[in-house]
Amino acid sequence: MSPFRFLAALSAALLCLLSLPAHADLRVVATVPDLAAIAKTIGGDKAQVIPLALPTQDPHFVDAKPNLALELNRADLLLAIGLQLEIGWLPTLQNGARNPRIVSGGQGYMEVSQFIRPLEIPPVSVDRSQGDVHPGGNPHFLYDPRNVVRVAQGITERMATLDAKNADTYRANLAKFTAEVEKARAGWEQRLAGLKGVPVVAYHRTTAYLADWLGFETIAYLEPKPGIPPNPAHVAQVLGQGRQRKARMVLQEDYYPNTTARLVSSKMPAPLVVMPAGTNVRGGQTYIQRMDELVQRLENGLKGQGT
Ligand SMILES: [Zn+2]
Repeated sequence: MSPFRFLAALSAALLCLLSLPAHADLRVVATVPDLAAIAKTIGGDKAQVIPLALPTQDPHFVDAKPNLALELNRADLLLAIGLQLEIGWLPTLQNGARNPRIVSGGQGYMEVSQFIRPLEIPPVSVDRSQGDVHPGGNPHFLYDPRNVVRVAQGITERMATLDAKNADTYRANLAKFTAEVEKARAGWEQRLAGLKGVPVVAYHRTTAYLADWLGFETIAYLEPKPGIPPNPAHVAQVLGQGRQRKARMVLQEDYYPNTTARLVSSKMPAPLVVMPAGTNVRGGQTYIQRMDELVQRLENGLKGQGT
């Protein structure tokens, strides 16, 4: 065999290897990276888990690209947050996927919001004039590790139903994950004990569960209404409130433009803490590592250091 032909054969063989699906009994797709990270820990080597949104992407607005529908076409289980977080993009993908397993109501579709107690349920019916308000409550509940444990339990049971032969593995992985999260949570709470009662300004209502868990108070939001970008009159008002209440930090996710938050942060003054928006699952990050990073940034913020 000539060296050229050998190389050609070798690269063909390699290509073939690379295009083989990873050996997995259950194909799981999760809408957001944090959810994918949880599912991956439970699934271990028995499940292949693919996130639809990138950790740097705003989960309210994900491009419903055809390659995402293709992932859904092959999925046994689609995990969504629910509470209408994905309402702007997921139904399009579910329709395009041509997979009866993962349509709403199908055995392979699950909204994990059913496992938690939603915060900020609007008291009266809302319409779009009030902004991007979620009528079932605030969907950003995976910032609270106590909710993550509940969600992990729910995911485990559904995986065990869909793939009964690996049920014991899923349950064992859940037990290990729960113990790790509980241990880590005790450390996080200790490091952030100083946040109790602290007033902060946030960009979007993503801080609801974080505040509920850690005991800080979000006194104002840079968005005048959820999903509506800040405007000068509203920002001036927030700055006034922040100064009056002596807000200690400005918080926002890394996927939002930070010009306004930087301005408010410098004028108040209070450090701007940019929160990593999701687990970098594709880069091998775990949920616990992702939270470690968030806790570190909040801890720095308490010491007056911005991100
Ligand atoms: Zn939101």
